[in-house]
Parts: sequence; C-alpha cells; structure tokens
Amino acid sequence: MNEEIKAEIIFVLDDDNEVMTTAVEPHSNLDEENKQMNRELIKKHESIIARVEKGEKLIQEDLLLIRDANEIHLNDEDNINGHHRQAVQLNDWVDKMTELTKKQAMKILEEHLDRDSHTPAKVYRALHTLWEEATPDDLVVGPLFDDEGKCLKCGSKVSFADTVDTMVFVGNEIMKRHNGDITNRNCVKCNYPGQYPEYEHYDKE
Ligand SMILES: [Zn+2]
Repeated sequence: MNEEIKAEIIFVLDDDNEVMTTAVEPHSNLDEENKQMNRELIKKHESIIARVEKGEKLIQEDLLLIRDANEIHLNDEDNINGHHRQAVQLNDWVDKMTELTKKQAMKILEEHLDRDSHTPAKVYRALHTLWEEATPDDLVVGPLFDDEGKCLKCGSKVSFADTVDTMVFVGNEIMKRHNGDITNRNCVKCNYPGQYPEYEHYDKE
C-alpha cells in the first residue's frame, strides 16, 4: 500500500466518522437504533485506521467499508471537498484488492465486452464455456466439509447453503413446489468473514 493510498483511506474514514459523530450527539434527531449503528461503524473505521497506520493487512469487509466511505468523494466530480482525484485512485485500488466471485468476474468481463460493439458472438460463447467449466452445474468441486459438516479448512460448523426449488406454474400461479437440493454450500468463516461474528457462538457451543 503506497503512502498516498494510506493517507486517503485515513482521510475518508476520519471524514465519515466526523459526520457520524455529529449524528450521535444527544441533541441529534437520529433514533437510538441508528445512533447505535453509527457508533459501531465509527469503531470499525477506527480499527481500520489503526491497522492501516501499523501497516497490517486489511480484510475484505474493511475494503467494503472503505469503498462506502470513499463514495461521497468519488461522486464529488466538481471536487468541492478537494479529494476527487484521490478518491478515484482509492476506488481503483479497492477494486484491485477486492476478491471476485466467479459470477462477478464473469459480469465484469461481459460488461467490458458489451462496450465494444465489434465483440464477436464467439467471444461471449468462449466466456460462457469457461464459466461452465469452472463451475460444472454450479457445484463446488471436491469435499469442503467433513462427515459432521465441519469446514475442512478451518473446522467451523457454520455454513451458508443455497437450495434450488422447482415450482410448477399454471399461468402466473404457483401450483406446486418441490423442495430442492443444496447446490452450493460455503463455510461462513472462510467465505463471509464479515458475517461470521454473528454466528460465531454456534462454533463455541
Ligand atoms: Zn472454513
């Protein structure tokens, strides 16, 4: 992380904290629930700032929070706050650091190809073929959980799963629903570290 990026991360988080600090003051009209959310976000921002200052590695959730805080400066095209150029730079950096799912990667490629009216159809076909190969039937390849449903990588018991249900439509009305199978199961701790704290207690039980 270069010094300019570092300084900009600290700037956007501090700037956002300043706004939120005003919003949580006793005389503010904000309801208690939103005040509480602001307080938690301020703490998260402070933690990111501390880690950036120490040169520690950031996690994906940090990048999302930085992206959110940077947005106002990114949209400030008239440069009223004087940070537009830096915001564009920071946004590019966050893009580079953010992990993509295969679906997101595919979408980005498609969008770029769409911009060029000369992209031949076979390029799209090639892209879709690669996508199919990367995710046969959208199933995750290889065992990811042991017999007891624990993640083979980290041992956590908590996972998110998608199911595909089949519904019978007659006209626009659903007549029947067949409960589907699990098509996609992911360890929350490994794949959604930002959401894991919410479920962490299950692993401790
Ligand atoms: Zn795991």
